[in-house]
Amino acid sequence: MAKITTGMIQQAYEEAKLVYVGQKNQTDAQNDLEDYGLNRNSAGDLIVNFRCMMDGQKFTRTNNAETTKYYLDNILHDYGRSKLLNALYALEQHIEYYEDSQNTTMHKIRDILEDFQNSKDEEYPQYIVIQPIGKNNTIKNFLKDNSTRWAEKIRYKKQWKQSVNSIVLFIKDGKVFAKGDITKIKESKDNKYPLDFYYNLTLVDNINYKMIIEYAKPKLGNFRTYELLDFKTSSKIIKYINSQKLMYLDEDNADIELQKTINKITSFKPEEEPQKIKDSKEVKGNKIFPRNLAYAKFALEKAHYLCEIDNKHKTFTSNSSKKQFVEAHHLIPLKVQDEFIYSIDIPANIISLCPNCHRKIHFASSEDKNIMLEELLHKRQDDLKMYGIKVSKNNLFNIYA
Ligand SMILES: [Zn+2]
Ligand SMILES: [Zn+2]
Repeated sequence: MAKITTGMIQQAYEEAKLVYVGQKNQTDAQNDLEDYGLNRNSAGDLIVNFRCMMDGQKFTRTNNAETTKYYLDNILHDYGRSKLLNALYALEQHIEYYEDSQNTTMHKIRDILEDFQNSKDEEYPQYIVIQPIGKNNTIKNFLKDNSTRWAEKIRYKKQWKQSVNSIVLFIKDGKVFAKGDITKIKESKDNKYPLDFYYNLTLVDNINYKMIIEYAKPKLGNFRTYELLDFKTSSKIIKYINSQKLMYLDEDNADIELQKTINKITSFKPEEEPQKIKDSKEVKGNKIFPRNLAYAKFALEKAHYLCEIDNKHKTFTSNSSKKQFVEAHHLIPLKVQDEFIYSIDIPANIISLCPNCHRKIHFASSEDKNIMLEELLHKRQDDLKMYGIKVSKNNLFNIYA
């Protein structure tokens, strides 16, 4: 077969589009492509494959790598994300068909497919899927059976096929309890559950479900069935979820991060009940407990960006928040999290301090520190109790000594 040039690929794509929308019949398009130097059969394949990609159907004749990439780039450009998802699905089916029948591996084409599936930047935006796990399943059972994949029933097959690269929010009893990043959707041989999903599952207890309902309200009636949210709603929710990320940072770096990103963070207060301790991570040999910057922002807001030692302490206007610059300090430091059975990364434990008082509470003499600690503990004791945290004055003094 004669080599297909880039110009031919572009021409074929344009002709295939015309055929797809019914502005031209396939014979005429093939004739024109032949005039352009394409082999008649290849021209036919290029037209049919475009249709299959648009409709998310398996095709059997192979395009070369350059054509494959050109088609995917341009389908995304011309028709948007949902058609791209169809095209990726069609391509994946094609690869599996071709590799099986030819007993080969399509390395180059697979690389292209994976690049598109894995890219998460603005160019290939992600969608949100809301997936309730239903009355009959418990979270425990769901997690046991779904550590790396789950199977989906036939009635949702069509929708799920379009969900590669989406973020699935799993819902039970009105709460988001887990988040899955779908990496791959595969046909299975099981008739009842025809699709297998592969994803990275993370448990979440930091996503404010009420916010998500607020964003998704126009489309969501009840959370009984799968729902693929539209792009605008998905983007809002993704932005929100990203603002709720846990940071494995020490206090100084967390303060810098908070300052830099404060306008992107949605402040958030967890329910007034003891909160589960978030998993720690080993960073450079140190055990680090994560911080939720949404809680820190909530604490600063609640203090009206004033210093909680003395609200007359003046600092300066922060360029990012346009509010008075203050810092977030954990009264009970996160490094002693292990001594508590509930999380101490809660707004009740986060104090808004002017930079001077913040340095002071860390570096002053014990006498000076203890005066501050006693006052702050007195202010926060009741709030802390609501979250299952009890600490005595002397215990706190010792932590800071
Ligand atoms: Zn501090
Ligand atoms: Zn101060």
